[in-house]
Amino acid sequence: MDKLKNKKHQSHNALSNFKKDIEPLECKRCGTCCKKGGPCFHIEDKMLIEKGIILIKDLYTIREGELAYDNIKECLIPVTSDLIKIKGQSDSWECIFFDGNDNSCKIYDKRPVECRVLKCWDTREIEQIYFKNRLARKDLVSIIEGLWDLIEDHQSRCSYDKIKHFVKELDGEKKNEAIEGIYDILIYDDSIRELVVKKGKMDPENLDFLFGRPIVATIRMFGLKVKKKDGKYVTTQVHGSRVHGSRLESDED
Ligand code: SF4
Ligand code: SF4
Repeated sequence: MDKLKNKKHQSHNALSNFKKDIEPLECKRCGTCCKKGGPCFHIEDKMLIEKGIILIKDLYTIREGELAYDNIKECLIPVTSDLIKIKGQSDSWECIFFDGNDNSCKIYDKRPVECRVLKCWDTREIEQIYFKNRLARKDLVSIIEGLWDLIEDHQSRCSYDKIKHFVKELDGEKKNEAIEGIYDILIYDDSIRELVVKKGKMDPENLDFLFGRPIVATIRMFGLKVKKKDGKYVTTQVHGSRVHGSRLESDED
C-alpha cells in the first residue's frame, strides 16, 4: 500500500522474525535487530532520557489506537496506550544509534532494557517484559505546565478511534460529516504542531514525540491517502475509490 505498510514486517525488535532469520547461540553483533528498528521504552529507561543520554528528539510516539506491528501476534493491531520508540535513520527503521560502519551501538553501555534482554535465538526474556511497564508521554511531560494539556487535547480531538470511524463512514450515508471530521482533525493536528514551534519555541524535532507522527502520514494505515498540496488536503485513495468533498479534494479534481 505504501511505505508504512511495506515496512510493517521489518518493524521494531522483531521477536519471532529473528528466529526465522538467524539462529546464533550467542550474540554475533550482526546488528540485524538494530536494523529492524529501535526498542519500545519501559519505565526502567526513563533515566536515560532524564540524564540526556537519549534526547526527546530521538524519540517518537505511537499513540493509543494507532496501528503497530505486534511482534508476538505477528500482525498490525491498535496499541492500547502510548508506545515510545527510538526513531529510525532517514527513511528506514534502522535505529538512529546504530553505526553501520562497524555494526555497533553508539550507546551500547546505556542501551534501553529491550536491547539488553533481546536474544534473537531465545526470545523468552524479551517476551516477558515486552508488554510490562511501558513508558508513556505522561511519564515524561505531565509536569510541564500547559504542554501536557495540549497533548491531552490533541489526543482527544485527534484520536485514532475517531479517524478510524470517519474513514469507515466515507463509504456510508454520513460521508459529508466524515469528510468534515477528517478535515478538522488534519487541520488541528497541523496547527497544534505549528503553534508549539512558533509560539512555544519548541524544537520541531520533538513533535513526533509530543503529538505522534503527523496524521497526514499515519492516516494511510486506515486506508486513506492524504497529501497536502498548495495548502489543501488532497486525498488520493480510499478503499480503492475516490473521495470528493468540499474540503477534502480528490486528486482527480
Ligand atoms: S541479538 Fe541482534 S545483534 Fe545479536 S545476533 Fe541477534 S540479531 Fe544479531
Ligand atoms: S539502542 Fe543500540 S542496541 Fe538498541 S536498537 Fe538502537 S543501536 Fe541497537
